[in-house]
Amino acid sequence: MSSVVAFVGLGHMGGPMAAHLVRAGHRVAGYDLVPDCLAAASAAGVEPARSAADAVAGADVVISMLPAGRHVLALYRQEGALAAARPGTLFIDCSTIDVADARAAHEAAVAAGHRSLDAPVSGGVVGAEAATLTFMAGGGEAEFAAAEPYLSLMGRRVVHCGAAGAGQAAKICNNMILGVSMIAVSEAFVLGESLGLSHQALYDVASAASGQCWALTVNCPVPGPVPTSPANRDYRPGFAAPLMAKDLGLAASALRAGGVSAPLGEKAAELYAAFAAGDGAGQDFSGIVRAIRERKDG
Ligand code: NAD
Repeated sequence: MSSVVAFVGLGHMGGPMAAHLVRAGHRVAGYDLVPDCLAAASAAGVEPARSAADAVAGADVVISMLPAGRHVLALYRQEGALAAARPGTLFIDCSTIDVADARAAHEAAVAAGHRSLDAPVSGGVVGAEAATLTFMAGGGEAEFAAAEPYLSLMGRRVVHCGAAGAGQAAKICNNMILGVSMIAVSEAFVLGESLGLSHQALYDVASAASGQCWALTVNCPVPGPVPTSPANRDYRPGFAAPLMAKDLGLAASALRAGGVSAPLGEKAAELYAAFAAGDGAGQDFSGIVRAIRERKDG
């Protein structure tokens, strides 16, 4: 059945995601602060709105794909999306945001008489373009059931992780594993170099032994062993280091809020923040191997 979907945030991820909904036959009213993003989405069949509130009025479902929690909360409150929506509208926030902000967004939506789900994604721009994203959803069963048909048009897997905020929790926990494991794999390659061990020999052993992980076998941080990894194209992203730094920052803030001791997660957040603020700004997150090698050289 065709619905009216409001889509707010038509950037690298939101633009192609909204286009999949159009292709599936939904009417999509879109809004982005940047005129170029709005124009690109409009070329893909999204109907451009003059404001977020305009996009939301008359929609059955509101999907947001924004940079951070403050943008989502501002959309819901100050920009009037909750007030403009029809009662009972389903709000799905797909942005990666702080768990506390996600819960606050849920509360605000429910208090305004709406339904709400957090549904951050993994899979990056490539996944958004190919509709192969994984969605991690948090919210009630009924909200999940109502959202799934839309999310399935933009992704390959849609996982219900639990109550409000559980989708964001799954996202930052997964990315904390990824950040720590990429640093561990990179440190092992640099140690191997200092011991005269070739990259290929370490790869052949670790990829078939207990060191096996995605950071090694898919996104290998040194050129050679995995020809498709960003290391083979001078660390062009891929998954950009600033996005990893952002996700680890969210994990670190959740660690502090929960009083959880996780020295490796905290250290990974610190190392990625420094890398992303310097040479790593335009690099894939696996480029951190170069920073590790330079520290050793220095
Ligand atoms: P982006 O910066 O390309 O897009 C965000 C868009 O939101 C921008 O076009 C911006 O103009 C717009 N925007 C900001 N405030 C707005 C407002 N108040 N009203 C309307 N539009 C507004 O970022 P992106 O790469 O598309 O990422 C979006 C979200 O997805 C982030 O939370 C990010 O962490 C998450 N994410 C990104 C990736 C990735 O690989 N890019 C992967 C997984 C998750």
